[in-house]
Amino acid sequence: SGRLYLVPTPIGNLGDMSPRAVTTLQEVDLIAAEDTRNTAKLLNYFEIKTPQISFHEHNTMERIPLLVDKLLAGQNLAQVSDAGMPSISDPGQELVKACIEKQIPVVPLPGPNAALTALIASGITPQPFTFYGFLPRKNKDLKAELATLANERYTLIFYEAPHRLKKTLKALLEAFGGDRQVVLCRELTKQYEEFLRGDLQAAYDFSSTEEVRGEFVLIVAGNSTPNQAEQVEQDTNLSLKAQVEA
Ligand code: SAM
Repeated sequence: SGRLYLVPTPIGNLGDMSPRAVTTLQEVDLIAAEDTRNTAKLLNYFEIKTPQISFHEHNTMERIPLLVDKLLAGQNLAQVSDAGMPSISDPGQELVKACIEKQIPVVPLPGPNAALTALIASGITPQPFTFYGFLPRKNKDLKAELATLANERYTLIFYEAPHRLKKTLKALLEAFGGDRQVVLCRELTKQYEEFLRGDLQAAYDFSSTEEVRGEFVLIVAGNSTPNQAEQVEQDTNLSLKAQVEA
């Protein structure tokens, strides 16, 4: 069979496209792209003539059998998303699973990714970390998820759209408290790259005074204080034990 190449693309700076990524896109038979018009610009820039087929969240399931057939027939395929690593808060994972099932080799290329790029410049402990991606949009789901994450000790990485930043920071502030350290990493690799470091209260204040623009990754420090629910449980156990012993 052919191979499925997973090809990361720049998150803003075309200079981050690796020579291997260019060669791979040139040499495969077909590129499965999240948005073919968007990827056409990248292909133009690097003078890559390979044909494309659309592969996005709304046609994943109908496309997979077609792409798997092409791979089984010996064609090499590359999968790309609009920016950064395929499968990271982007389409790709279902195709990878389908290939593994059919024993089609999957070849990942390293490259641009917003989460790790933000993490290494944040100044917040880089490991262990939990990459979350986009939080749920529905209020109820958002609250429930943040209630669980509030006790996470690992550094947390979130993606968010600019028009939702304020709402998300408010929810984070309510769930984690205003003192928790956060870094808003804006426009990574681009002309107006910026890191806003502070606590959740300051970050929320920032997001509510300004019309926020650009792309953001949020790096949030983990919870460094003992889990309160656990604490209560331990105390209860202690008093129970004391009663039993008495
Ligand atoms: N696959 C991509 C990756 O590997 O990073 C992520 C795709 S996700 C649909 C888009 C989100 O990634 C944005 O909403 C933002 O949170 C983050 N992002 C992408 N590019 C960015 C950049 N240049 N600066 C800051 N955040 C970025």
